[in-house]
Amino acid sequence: MKIAVMPGDGVGKEVVPEGLKVLKVVSEKFGFSYTTDHYPFGGEYYLEKKETLPNSALKELAAHDAILFGAVGVDPRGSTQIPQGILEAEILLKMRFELDQYINLRPTKLLPGVPTPLKNVGPADIDMVIVRENTEGLYCQNGGFLYKGTQHEVANQIEVTTRRGVERAIRYAFDYAKQFNRKKVTLVAKTNVLRFAHNLWQRAFEEVKTDYPGIETDYHHVDACTMYMVTKPKIYDVIVTTNMFGDIITDLGAAIQGGMGMAASGNLNPTRQAASMFEPVHGSAPDIAGKNLANPIATFLSVGMMLDFLNQPKAARAIYQACADVVADPKNHTRDLGGTCTTTQVGETVCAKLA
Ligand code: ATP
Repeated sequence: MKIAVMPGDGVGKEVVPEGLKVLKVVSEKFGFSYTTDHYPFGGEYYLEKKETLPNSALKELAAHDAILFGAVGVDPRGSTQIPQGILEAEILLKMRFELDQYINLRPTKLLPGVPTPLKNVGPADIDMVIVRENTEGLYCQNGGFLYKGTQHEVANQIEVTTRRGVERAIRYAFDYAKQFNRKKVTLVAKTNVLRFAHNLWQRAFEEVKTDYPGIETDYHHVDACTMYMVTKPKIYDVIVTTNMFGDIITDLGAAIQGGMGMAASGNLNPTRQAASMFEPVHGSAPDIAGKNLANPIATFLSVGMMLDFLNQPKAARAIYQACADVVADPKNHTRDLGGTCTTTQVGETVCAKLA
């Protein structure tokens, strides 16, 4: 396996090295080998070199099997010298679009021992996987201004929805359900108001589902979904949704599964024609960066997702189980979960458990 490693900034530089330790331990235990190539891109690199992600590097990244990513962004002092949104657009979105990572996969599971802000809810109630379409919708920078800066200003941001884009996301959700023995796929959209784009989603969903007769299906409007995720999260198993709605409900998901330190993700190109990227959902967290306080569990779970994708399911399962066992004991919690453990202590405990 050829793995590109991009820790980025802030806590990314703390959690990714711990993730690499976990990767090393499972590779020895399960007998697979890999190589890593390190890339320096991010906010600090931009401040120094005035460069985000050059095309030559993107080409190199594409040729890897996977990218393990930390976070980009610098503290408010540095960020005043970085044009707003440039790191997201020219690093994260560039990889997403150029490498055609058309699925954002967000397992949303509450592990035993992890506090959730929801009342009377336990691990059996929160166990869903959100499949977010990752390359279309409102996020493909299709739009522009007219009369910018005047009283007559017009801004257009045009939603792009293609049959191909929608169908491949829906099919991925059903294939995932089949592979991982999930029972139900729910489409989340807003068909009553977005009567063109989301009508296309709904028709594609109705057609694709006939190829998966054993899997139950459902439809929820996104506003209802946000309520149900809080009031009865147990009803969700696999959710498939649009780029923007997915962006929003996956963060709601992160909150109910214990916060940013617990939420892992994959940006997948399931065709494997270019690298897929795995990352903890959180940002560079400048408020706690450099203090050994960040929770590395989201990164470990992302490494696990990466190994699942790279056909090492036993190693993936072992990482998941080690993380679950470790966080089950509050003595192993970092500050975000109410504990006092450091990033490196949690890393050591998970590695010891795995070994
Ligand atoms: P960025 O601009 O890079 O997105 P941010 O601070 O806006 O940074 P996050 O980095 O996601 O966004 O941080 C949001 C909050 O969650 C912060 O208070 C941060 O300390 C906390 N946080 C983020 N990641 C972790 C983590 N791994 N462990 C503990 N707390 C975290």
